[in-house]
Amino acid sequence: MRWTQTLIPTLREAPADAEILSHKLLLRAGLLRKLAGGVYTFLPLGLRSLRKVEQIVREEMDRAGAVEVLMPALQPPDIWQQSGRYESARDVLFKVRDSANREWLLGPTHEEVITLLAAAEINSYRQLPKNFYQIQVKFRDEIRPRFGLMRAREFIMKDAYSFDVSDEAAQVSYQKMYDAYTRIFARCGLKTLPVEADTGVIGGKFSHEFMVPAETGENEVVYCDTGNYAANLEKATSQGPITPTPAVSAGAAPERFPTPGVVTIEALASAPYNVAAHQQIKTLIHVVEGKLVIALLRGDDQLNEAKFAGRLGTATFRAATAEEILEATGAHPGSLGAVTSTRTKPEIKVFADEVLRGARGMTTGANEDGFHLRHVDMERDIRVDEWADLRTVRAGELCVSTGQPLKIRRAIEVGHVFKLGTKYSEKLGALFLDEAGARKPAVMGCYGIGVTRTLQAVIEQCNDKDGILWPMSVAPYQVCITPLNVAADNPGMKLAETLYAELTARGVEVILDDRDERPGVKFKDADLVGFPLRVSIGEKSLAKGEVEIKPRGGGVTPVKIEDALPRVLGLVQESEAR
Ligand code: ATP
Ligand code: MG
Repeated sequence: MRWTQTLIPTLREAPADAEILSHKLLLRAGLLRKLAGGVYTFLPLGLRSLRKVEQIVREEMDRAGAVEVLMPALQPPDIWQQSGRYESARDVLFKVRDSANREWLLGPTHEEVITLLAAAEINSYRQLPKNFYQIQVKFRDEIRPRFGLMRAREFIMKDAYSFDVSDEAAQVSYQKMYDAYTRIFARCGLKTLPVEADTGVIGGKFSHEFMVPAETGENEVVYCDTGNYAANLEKATSQGPITPTPAVSAGAAPERFPTPGVVTIEALASAPYNVAAHQQIKTLIHVVEGKLVIALLRGDDQLNEAKFAGRLGTATFRAATAEEILEATGAHPGSLGAVTSTRTKPEIKVFADEVLRGARGMTTGANEDGFHLRHVDMERDIRVDEWADLRTVRAGELCVSTGQPLKIRRAIEVGHVFKLGTKYSEKLGALFLDEAGARKPAVMGCYGIGVTRTLQAVIEQCNDKDGILWPMSVAPYQVCITPLNVAADNPGMKLAETLYAELTARGVEVILDDRDERPGVKFKDADLVGFPLRVSIGEKSLAKGEVEIKPRGGGVTPVKIEDALPRVLGLVQESEAR
C-alpha cells in the first residue's frame, strides 16, 4: 500500500474528549474516528489491525473445536421475555421500532438466539458437544460510554456458546476455551492475567475474566505475588481484615449514649468519642424487590455489591431513600442499628458479614437520631437471619490459599469465560435425549472476547512517548519503507519501489511512504502509527550502498542494499515466531 493512496490522518494533538492514552493514540495515529459518543468509524489502518485480531481469534476458536456462525444483530423482544432478561437487562437494551410499530432489540449478547437454535437443531446426545461462535457487532446502551473502544455503544465481540451433555463435559468445554483465550491474547502480544470472576446471580464456581493490567482499567483485581491467586475485587476473599474484630464483652447490655450530630463512621471514630471504625457496626438498608433488607458490616468495611447480589439472588436492588429509612426505623441514615431491642420492624431481614461473627463490645446506631449504643454483642443483641461474605477485600490482607499479602491493581477486562449451567437451556427448551432416552437440558457455557476492546488494550499496553509499539502480529503493516526523496527518477525512490515489490511478493505487509514530506514528518508519523519495522532510504546511506533498518522502539542499523531484503524477511519471521 502507498501512503498517499490510503487514508492516515495523523494528528499532532488528540481531541479533548479523548481521556486515556490508547484512545488518544487511536485518534492521533489515524486509526479511528468518532461519529457519536461510543460510536466509531474504523479508518483503513485501524481496520487492518482489527481484522488481524479477529483472525487470531478465529484461528484459535477453530483450533479449539468451535464452529463459526453469524447471528443477526436484530432480535425479536419475545425471546428476551422468554429468558427473563427483557426486564433484568433492560438498562442496556437498545430498542427500535419497525414501520408497523413493532419493537425490536439490537442484541447486546446472543444467549437467547443461540439457545433457540440449539433447541431447534440439537435433539440427541450424539450431536453433543457443540460450541458455536461468531464475531459480530453488539449494541449496549452503556450509561457512560467512554475511553473510545473500551466502553462503546456499538462494538465487536467474539461470543461463543457451548452445549454439553453433563456438568463434567461442560467443564471440558470450559477448559478448552480458557486455554484458547490464553493463546489468543498471547498471540495479540498482550500480557493478560486470568482472574476468578463473579458468577453473579447464576452462581457456581466457574467464571474467569482475562484482565490486562492497566491504570486506566475499570476493574480492580486482587492477586498475590506467588501467582497462585487472582480474582476480580467483586469476587475476591481473604483471611479477613488485618485489625481483628473486638471480641471482648465490655458490658452486660448495650448502653445508649448521646452523639449529637454524629452521622458518619469517621465522626464517631474522632474525638471526643474515639470509637475506631473497626469497633463499629455499619448498618445499610436496601430495597430488594420492594422489600427492605438490612446489611451489617464492620465500620471500616465496604459492602461488595456483587457478593450481595449473589447472596440475594438478584442484581436489582438499590439503597433505601432517607424517607424509607425513617419510616422503617424512626431514625435518619447515620443513626441506624440492628440491635433487636431498638427495632420497630423486626420483620426486616438482617444479613451480616462473616467478619462480625463473635464480635463483642461494638458500637452502632441506636435507631434514634443523636444516639448510639455501645457494648453491643453481635450474637447476644442482634438477630442475624443470614451470615454471608459481604465485604470488599483490602490490600495487605492475607490470601486464603497462599497466606501471602494481597495486592490490588486496576485492569481492563478483555475476555470472559463463564459456565452457564442449564438456565437458558431450560427456559428456552434446549433439550436433548440422552443415551437412556431421557430428555435433559443441555449444560451451557458462554465465552466472550471484546475484540475492539482488545485492540485498544494492545495500544494501552504497547506504546512509548512517540506513539504505538505494535506487536508484529496485529500491526496494520509490518514494514514501512521511507524513501526520503520521492521523485520517480530518484535512485532512493527506485530502490524503495523494488524493495516494496519484493517484500510484498513474499507476503510481507508493507506500506510505502511516498509522501513528498520532510523526513522529520515521515519519521514522526511512522513512529506514531507504530509500524514494527522501518526501512529508510536517504541520500547519505545510499551513497555508501546502504539502507537503514529500524525496529520501532529500537536503534538504527545500516544494512547493505543487497542484504536489506533477507534482513527484513528475517526480522519479520523472527517476531512472528515469538
Ligand atoms: P463490562 O463489565 O466491562 O461492562 P461485561 O461483563 O458487561 O463487561 P460481557 O457481557 O462479559 O461484558 O462481554 C464480553 C466482553 O465484551 C467483555 O469481556 C468486554 O471485553 C467486551 N465488552 C463488554 N461491554 C463492552 C463495551 N461497552 N464496549 C466494548 N467492549 C465491551
Ligand atoms: Mg464480564
